[in-house]
Amino acid sequence: MNMSHIRSTNSKPEEIVRKYLFAEGFRYRKNVKKLPGCPDIVLPKYKTVIFVNGCFWHKHDCPRFVWPSSNQDYWRPKILRNVERDNQNRKELEALGWKVITVWECELKKKVRENRLSKLAAEIKS
Ligand SMILES: [Zn+2]
Repeated sequence: MNMSHIRSTNSKPEEIVRKYLFAEGFRYRKNVKKLPGCPDIVLPKYKTVIFVNGCFWHKHDCPRFVWPSSNQDYWRPKILRNVERDNQNRKELEALGWKVITVWECELKKKVRENRLSKLAAEIKS
């Protein structure tokens, strides 16, 4: 199988969210480096940022997250550092007046995606 082909498909979680928002008429910027945590999606009009997080890397409280059974000395500090950084970024963004929304990878599974995305649109506008 050709890896470059896989990468070029628009099925990455953040692409799913971006496509939906664009179709709903939202306009956004991507990966804004000058904001804490370089948010995946920034909606200036709504003063809202969105992080699309992988359940494993960001330790989501869901069945997709399980501590790896091997190499614990490597994974544990790495993942806990991610969580700490996420919390710090959120605090800084909120202090700057941004609304911070996290969309988790598991919320974008086919069966639940539509529900999550329409909730997201409401969250942005609220
Ligand atoms: Zn999850």
